[in-house]
Amino acid sequence: MFEHMCPAGHITEHYVSYEMTVVPCTVCGTDAGRIISAPRVELDGTDPIYVSAYDRWAKRHEDKAKQERKQNQA
Ligand SMILES: [Zn+2]
Repeated sequence: MFEHMCPAGHITEHYVSYEMTVVPCTVCGTDAGRIISAPRVELDGTDPIYVSAYDRWAKRHEDKAKQERKQNQA
């Protein structure tokens, strides 16, 4: 179960596979990007590029967490 937020700011929960980072908002039908316990970011809600920008941010966030786990194990 993942939370997604659409450009209009609706936060919805979806049962989707991990790979599905974008789903249609159940409120307004716009593409909603996944939220990964992220701090609220300033987004231009009308620009679809925000989804990929958000995904890049999420990827960096995950990579950093992985690195930190590795360092802790070493
Ligand atoms: Zn919406």
